[in-house]
Amino acid sequence: MNIAILSRNAKLYSSRRLAEAAKQRGHDVSVVNPLKCYMDITSMRPGIYYRGEQLRGFDAVIPRIGASITFYGTAVLRQLEMMGVYPVNESVAIGRSRDKLRSLQLLARKGIGLPVTGFAHDVDDTGELIKLVGGAPLVVKLLEGTQGKGVVLAETKKAAESVIDAFRELNANFLVQEFIKEAGGSDIRALVIGEKVVAAMMRTAKEGEFRSNLHRGGSARVIKLTPEERSTAVRAAKTMGLNVAGVDILRSNHGPVIMEVNSSPGLEGIELATGKDVAGQIIDFIDKSAKPHKTKTRGK
Ligand code: ADP
Ligand code: GLU
Repeated sequence: MNIAILSRNAKLYSSRRLAEAAKQRGHDVSVVNPLKCYMDITSMRPGIYYRGEQLRGFDAVIPRIGASITFYGTAVLRQLEMMGVYPVNESVAIGRSRDKLRSLQLLARKGIGLPVTGFAHDVDDTGELIKLVGGAPLVVKLLEGTQGKGVVLAETKKAAESVIDAFRELNANFLVQEFIKEAGGSDIRALVIGEKVVAAMMRTAKEGEFRSNLHRGGSARVIKLTPEERSTAVRAAKTMGLNVAGVDILRSNHGPVIMEVNSSPGLEGIELATGKDVAGQIIDFIDKSAKPHKTKTRGK
């Protein structure tokens, strides 16, 4: 097969590993920077150009689109889909997963465990919103945040009110969430491919921090998931329509709850923590599933 990896940087661990794994399995592979692509949106012959040449002949594409380039990156992916290239994750599913509100609404509809969560923009009655999620301590999150930025733990009702008021002043969308104290500053990253969890790790926040992001100094170790956690992760990925997903789970008193479903999960942390060849399994999945002209984005 001829596989494209849509990534801004071929040197990043995940892009490198995917390219390596594809080559090992006898595939041709090119890393294409989506921001350098331009598109021909002429009727009947969607085309895409890169560094002065038309891109042709790809059988499959692995999108590695960072949150900051979601808009243009998914447009490039959509163009490839319209040309019949098989995407391991579809543009529609990526767009869906990048919208936290939309994601949580979809997961809630399917009955998947979630922290009690309220969404707001400009509430008149902050007290009512706090009451809705069961009072302090609670977590307030900016909708646009990644890597734990814009995630605040408010330990008292007073603190919660001032954080919410500050976010309102910023004119930002935010969510207010039950604080899962019993998770003890740890969360689980389950890497789902197809209908299986292929690797899982537990990330633990450093001393004095409740956010377990590795970017914030958290540490990772391999962990065995319960059957309920496995099925929650798989159902969450499926609900988002993602074949490859990094599902973030907290262990709460009311069972596993989903925090987030990532469509371009980083491979470095999970491969190093678990010793698993996740990149290889992504390529194997493509080998098995790639069917040209079979994406949902072409409209009905
Ligand atoms: P981001 O998408 O920016 O990483 P998250 O929503 O994943 O933000 O939050 C960052 C970290 O904060 C999580 O990995 C988790 O450790 C912690 N955290 C987030 N929400 C909660 C919560 N409701 N209860 C307990 N800890 C939380
Ligand atoms: N790469 C990031 C992670 O695995 C997030 C990617 C995304 O926003 O989909 O945590």
